[in-house]
Amino acid sequence: MGFTIRQLPVGKCHSGKNRGGTLLGFKTIITPSKAKLNAHTQKVGQLIERHKSVPQSDLITHLNPIIRGWTNYYASVVSKRIFNKADSILFSQLKAWAEHRHPNKSSQWSCQKYWQTIGSDNWVFKPKNLGLRLLKHRETPIVRHTKVQGNRSPFDGDWVYWSSRMGKHPEAPTRVATLLKMQKGKCAYCGLFFQDGDLMEIDHKIPRSKGGKDSYDNRQLLHGHCHDAKTATDNVAVRVPEIDEDYLNLNPF
Ligand SMILES: [Zn+2]
Repeated sequence: MGFTIRQLPVGKCHSGKNRGGTLLGFKTIITPSKAKLNAHTQKVGQLIERHKSVPQSDLITHLNPIIRGWTNYYASVVSKRIFNKADSILFSQLKAWAEHRHPNKSSQWSCQKYWQTIGSDNWVFKPKNLGLRLLKHRETPIVRHTKVQGNRSPFDGDWVYWSSRMGKHPEAPTRVATLLKMQKGKCAYCGLFFQDGDLMEIDHKIPRSKGGKDSYDNRQLLHGHCHDAKTATDNVAVRVPEIDEDYLNLNPF
């Protein structure tokens, strides 16, 4: 699960204060990317529900702009795994849609009717005789801002203050706050300070799939994109994808 942290400048009446009572001039907004994914999933689910009996091509025409819009909007704050997860959930939703339409046919039959093979991808949601196909979230490249890499953290070095403040935030787990404090605001993979708007994710140094424990000495806080890079190397040796606590590996593609 990832968190993005934004510090929005606010007026002095709404500004955060540090422990000494000094105004910080910023208000911290912590947004769990999972909540954004859930909202998107619900919106897509409702659309599919409303289009139970339209032709597949109509459904695709309605879904594509939503997928394109959402992925473009979040391409700088989510990680690849969020897009993979969105595709997995969408696949389940469409499978239910397909099976609902043909209650007397087998699951295999509806898969063959609504999903085609293009290149090495056996799960392209498209009608057999039309060029139209459903977009995949994962096709959208993750965009990283090129930022001036300051030698200061936006959290001002006051780790006790920040961790206590984040720890109280209803949506920020104590784990993130504790790790941020332990790592003095730096990503354990690339060594750079987390910056405003960065996605942070908790990683297991030794993957759980390889017997790593879910304890503080085995946890580290990484940028979302650093986590993707690290997880890719974790999986080279065993070829079994690590299943994160919050990442149900439903991916059929
Ligand atoms: Zn990093």
